[in-house]
Amino acid sequence: MTDGSTHRGNISQHVQSIPSSGIRRFFDLLASMDGVISLGVGQPDFVTPNHIRQAAIQSIEDGETYYTSNYGLVELRHAISRHLQRLYGIHYDAGTEIIVTAGVSEALNIALEAILDPGDEVLSPDPGYVAYLPCVLIAGGRFIQVPTRAEDGFALHPEELERRITPRSKAILFGYPANPTGAVLSRDTMLAIADIAQRHGLFVISDEIYDRLVYGVDHVCVSSLPGMKERTILLGGFSKAYAMTGWRLAYTCARNELTEAMMKVHQYVMMSAPTPAQFAALQAMNSGEEDVRGMVAEYDRRRQLVVSALNAMGLPCVEPRGAFYAFPQVGASGMNDETFAERLLMEERVAVIPGSAFGEAGAGHVRICYAQSYDLLEQAMDRMRAFVARHNKSTAK
Ligand code: PLP
Repeated sequence: MTDGSTHRGNISQHVQSIPSSGIRRFFDLLASMDGVISLGVGQPDFVTPNHIRQAAIQSIEDGETYYTSNYGLVELRHAISRHLQRLYGIHYDAGTEIIVTAGVSEALNIALEAILDPGDEVLSPDPGYVAYLPCVLIAGGRFIQVPTRAEDGFALHPEELERRITPRSKAILFGYPANPTGAVLSRDTMLAIADIAQRHGLFVISDEIYDRLVYGVDHVCVSSLPGMKERTILLGGFSKAYAMTGWRLAYTCARNELTEAMMKVHQYVMMSAPTPAQFAALQAMNSGEEDVRGMVAEYDRRRQLVVSALNAMGLPCVEPRGAFYAFPQVGASGMNDETFAERLLMEERVAVIPGSAFGEAGAGHVRICYAQSYDLLEQAMDRMRAFVARHNKSTAK
């Protein structure tokens, strides 16, 4: 074999550099067990509201089975534009500044591909959504974690962020309300981060998939802050607020030049988002508000149940003000987060995710998704209470 052919058959180096999933072993274990209450997967337990499903069925009946424009159905882009104007007072042009994508997953990918050159650095809060690091690596970038702390409610700290900026920094990537912590950012913190982005000439990729799931606080849309629209790529989605994870639908909003750069990737890797899902999303935008409010009210009820149960059983939990996750500390059990999650699953058949799967700063916590029925949550909390009491008699009540 010649030197020139020794690389054949090798997997690409940057794919090799992606760490293997910290939770795959755990999910393999879970799949082999019966009677498990899963608080693991981050998706609504609700079925997509019926009128939204019917809109997709109707579109298929009507023969709407073709590709749409690469940008997505024009009526849907207009509906998204009106929606953002109404909620956040920000204007995105439906013709030139919005792309409908196959989930925020695709949106995140095309945003990173559009702005990163090899070695560019992307700053992102730790703990954070599991796809951020791999997607940055796939796009050729370097992932710079900015630790956050339970004492600050896991909010990104502007000074911690600014300290990590280098000449190679290109973008700040975050998602608020946050997965896995449920943190939201106050307007003042968002303004401080916006100021840093402007002073250092950074892009902001803002994953706002949980924007509608807030409890007693307002979501601050970063691109609506002064001077931020031109440097922000806003990612919005349907999966969480409308219970539409399986439909694979979301969108990007950004000024025209950035939108055109993302389109260069989107048109070749995706062509267009699934057509029936776009009709469903149009219905969701036009008539789904009541459903969103109903589901948010129910998540809030469950949130209160879970947070007070966790604190009472001796697992301190900062109050999550958004998304549908609680992120308690489990140190009082004498176990690290991985052992805690594994033993809780084996002994009590409750699945939660070890916090270290979301970054180093998540160690010592577990993520509990409360998008699960109230009944099952009550049972899960009973089982956890028994588990904690057994393992730490001094703190459990
Ligand atoms: N962003 C965050 C923060 C998420 O938690 C998720 C799913 O859990 C996604 C994006 C993926 O969204 P989508 O279903 O639109 O691809």
